[in-house]
Amino acid sequence: MTGGWVTRDAPTPEELAACIHCGLCLPGCPTYRLTGEETASPRGRLSAMSAVADGIAAVDETFEEMMSFCLQCRACEVACPSLVPFGRAMEGARVELAAQRPSPTRRARGRLLGRRGLGSRPAVALVTMLAAIGQRLRAPRWLPGRLGGALGGLRPLPVRAPSTLSDTWEPLAARVGTAALLAGCVMDPWFAGVHTASIAVLRRAGYRVEVPAGQTCCGALAAHDGAADEARALAATNRQAFAGYDLIVADSAGCGAHLKEYESWAPGGEGWADRVRDITEVVAEAIADGRLPTQPETGTPVAMQDPCHLRHAQRIIEPPRAIVHAAGYTPVEIDPLAMCCGAAGVYSVLRPETSAELGGRKAAQVTATSARIVASANPGCEMQLRSHLGPGYRVAHPVELFAEAIE
Ligand code: SF4
Ligand code: SF4
Repeated sequence: MTGGWVTRDAPTPEELAACIHCGLCLPGCPTYRLTGEETASPRGRLSAMSAVADGIAAVDETFEEMMSFCLQCRACEVACPSLVPFGRAMEGARVELAAQRPSPTRRARGRLLGRRGLGSRPAVALVTMLAAIGQRLRAPRWLPGRLGGALGGLRPLPVRAPSTLSDTWEPLAARVGTAALLAGCVMDPWFAGVHTASIAVLRRAGYRVEVPAGQTCCGALAAHDGAADEARALAATNRQAFAGYDLIVADSAGCGAHLKEYESWAPGGEGWADRVRDITEVVAEAIADGRLPTQPETGTPVAMQDPCHLRHAQRIIEPPRAIVHAAGYTPVEIDPLAMCCGAAGVYSVLRPETSAELGGRKAAQVTATSARIVASANPGCEMQLRSHLGPGYRVAHPVELFAEAIE
């Protein structure tokens, strides 16, 4: 057995040494909560990484199981008094898995999540068309579990995918600046309503909105899966496409979190992270400034679902609540720990049982309230909630609820 790392992305000695083994991260970790096993906890995973780094253990099947069971939800980071950058360390461990345990499946997945898959607009348009046809044939009812569930979680899709790319919209109020919007990979064709609402609200708040040409998928899914070369290439493309913009806006929490951490994947952009904002931050700020109107309270409850990459990775908690409240709704809390809903990028495909268990728990937290509307600022969470809640519930981005209210 030979341990040790082989890539430049591996967890660093400093990242691993930061863990003081206090265990404060354990109660908030979904996989630890499900199993009660130390090996399924953040502390256990960091110990396993240290054992490899020290040459005591190898990147073997056991190590792979421990790492791939992690949802990369980063709830552990929020609880950690020692500020262990767990998300970064886990991304490094996944890159090591790709390098030390290569397989045709992993390579194919890397391509799907990279430039020729999610980073390719024609490829995404083709998948969208097939999924749209599947929806019209009522495929979610007869397709086997995972595939049917995924299709059932989607919004109704257009056969011809729309695109915001290269478009520009002028502000509808006194101009405060230009916002460059990340079109994303599936956000344009699958969540067009979120882009439409974001653009409308940004214009009302005084922004000129541009969707720069040349941009691509943010690369978050590639990075989380250890496809380092793909993640780097996608990040470099976006760095170039968004150069020169002071405000870069993402309306998908997972994309925004990854954009803010581009320094790991495409280093060198001065002040880059400070220029990237989640749409909820920008809209809540405009509401607080009086640049956007607030609506009288209707008393209609809205369950607040906190996407991990909004709450844990970006530490954004209040803005979505302020937006829902300003839209006239009453925000309802469903989970003080903001436990992962189990969507977690491709996790729902790779670990369907765990994903379904967590999705069911999240849906139960919603159905325990009187709310029939759920606000979620991340596309993966939205799909997971929709497929577990079923008909009778609406899942929407907080900014969509706000845009409708001020229309
Ligand atoms: S990222 Fe989430 S699942 Fe992974 S160890 Fe941390 S809390 Fe647990
Ligand atoms: S809370 Fe932080 S320092 Fe404590 S065990 Fe978890 S990762 Fe280590």
